Amino acid sequence: MRFLITGGAGFIGSHLAEELLVRGHRVHVLDDLSTGSIDNVRHLKDDPRFSYTIETCASTSIVAELVDDADIVYHLAAAVGVDLIVESPVRTIETNVHCTEVVLAQAAKKRKPVFVASTSEVYGKSTQFPFHEDGDLVMGASTTGRWSYACSKAIDEFLALAYWKERKLPTVVARLFNTVGPRQTGRYGMVVPKFVSQALGERPLTVFGDGTQTRCFCHVEDVVQALVDLMLLGNEAYGQVFNIGSQEEISILGLAERVRALAGSDSEIHVIPYAEAYEEGFEDMPRRYPDIAKIQRAVAWAPTRSLDEILGDVISFQQAEAAVV
Ligand code: UDP
Repeated sequence: MRFLITGGAGFIGSHLAEELLVRGHRVHVLDDLSTGSIDNVRHLKDDPRFSYTIETCASTSIVAELVDDADIVYHLAAAVGVDLIVESPVRTIETNVHCTEVVLAQAAKKRKPVFVASTSEVYGKSTQFPFHEDGDLVMGASTTGRWSYACSKAIDEFLALAYWKERKLPTVVARLFNTVGPRQTGRYGMVVPKFVSQALGERPLTVFGDGTQTRCFCHVEDVVQALVDLMLLGNEAYGQVFNIGSQEEISILGLAERVRALAGSDSEIHVIPYAEAYEEGFEDMPRRYPDIAKIQRAVAWAPTRSLDEILGDVISFQQAEAAVV
């Protein structure tokens, strides 16, 4: 089959491209390299079943042509990373909403199934643990910049589900919880690559807030298995929302200690208030814990890698990168 991946030169998109090629499919990547990088897909360029276009997915004519050539579309292109969201809210909102509109509209003309990547961020301040797909989404005030990301992704979800309901376009929405692994950059604030590079560089690990907030980190290679299986499932997945994430929970302070130990680092751990780390009035989620029963039932998916294995992989990746520089 032929797959189009918007945002395919990004961290998750490049791993997805790799997995689809391994399973014998053809892959075309559309990416404007705003946060993605050609380095992420360089190793795929010699594969005759792999091709790419460097362009924005806001371009209707390009998306129309590429959707035409594809059997299934993965829409992963988005503005991601809390740092980017806080610094560039206009870009975040416009990219996330407009690109999804373009992709869905073009896919609808040809009835091409579309996967829309959403995020656990949409659960916002909900305290209904574990987060279930049918649970409430609890947003903060529009004057607090962070919520623009959650709201823009929630709009993407509504739009994808509306296309299914009203226009019979097969769409699948997945809410990705914290996804980590090799090739993720710490440039946009993601905590695992940041802590690893701080630990390997013997710089202080920067724990924001009081460090008691928890997250569940899932290996990107586990996540992309779920992404592929869901789209190959077909009918049963269409018009549905699925959580994808790990249930191994750790506090951010605990994570800093674990990274430091696994990296054999003597770095100090610095605890920094949110207002200093992001901006005044910044709101963080104290906990993010998914219910993954739905995806387990649908495609028998569960994470296979422990947090220690994940951190070990990220450490080895960054060590190898440093060795070639
Ligand atoms: N975080 C931190 N230090 C950093 C970067 C992030 O303590 O240098 C915290 C952040 O405030 C959040 C958690 O780590 O509580 C996860 O952050 P990330 O941006 O990776 O993902 P999020 O879950 O916020 O989308």
